[in-house]
Amino acid sequence: MYGYGGFGWLALLAWLLPLELSAGACDCSVAVDVGHATFSAGATSARGKPEFEFNLEMGTLIHEELIKNGMTRSFTIINPPGLKDRVRITEEKGADLFVSVHHDSVQSYYLRDWIHNNHTHKYSDAFRGYSILLSPKGFQYSNSLELATMIGKRFRAAGFLPAYHHSKKVLGGRHNMIDEELGIYQFDNLVVLKYSVIPAILIEFGVIVHREEEIMLQQPETREKLVRAVVEGIGEFNALHCLPR
Ligand SMILES: [Zn+2]
Repeated sequence: MYGYGGFGWLALLAWLLPLELSAGACDCSVAVDVGHATFSAGATSARGKPEFEFNLEMGTLIHEELIKNGMTRSFTIINPPGLKDRVRITEEKGADLFVSVHHDSVQSYYLRDWIHNNHTHKYSDAFRGYSILLSPKGFQYSNSLELATMIGKRFRAAGFLPAYHHSKKVLGGRHNMIDEELGIYQFDNLVVLKYSVIPAILIEFGVIVHREEEIMLQQPETREKLVRAVVEGIGEFNALHCLPR
């Protein structure tokens, strides 16, 4: 497990020990937190699908890919009773990294009605793209930012663009952007991030109230690219910070 005080001593130890550090050598445990729950499903897509279903599908794929890449102690958190239980489960299972999986909506100001399959749904085509959020109040802010940067760079390299509707520069936006190019935002008081003692990020993979993006986000090739970006970013982080067990 990663310590509270950064990785300085780990880096020194790694330097002293004749060990080849690589993602494969380190059986890092990643808590893949599936956002929301069956009893409280989060946002609703432009065609009426609950966010929780998107999160469960993506979280499952990320978990499978982590296992394939040698991070065999990784696990998913699905349907815990409350937000703090997500932090508690993560600690009890001894995770090294926390990644919360979400899909985004926009501020209600931008939502409009449309009819799909004879039902009226809310949609907005005003914003699309991914966002990565982290809390400066978290115990491991600098490491969380490093992990977010590694994943954000891979999202951009794979052709994905950040969403800007969370930015304070946009009407209704509430968050400061930490990195505009990579779509990294500051979210001070998000429970799952600020109480985490390990590096913790929350990823909004895309905007599901956007009618085109909703379809794109469910295509297997899109999901494959997103999952690969996340797992490779985690792999790079581990290669730098994680000692073989
Ligand atoms: Zn969500």
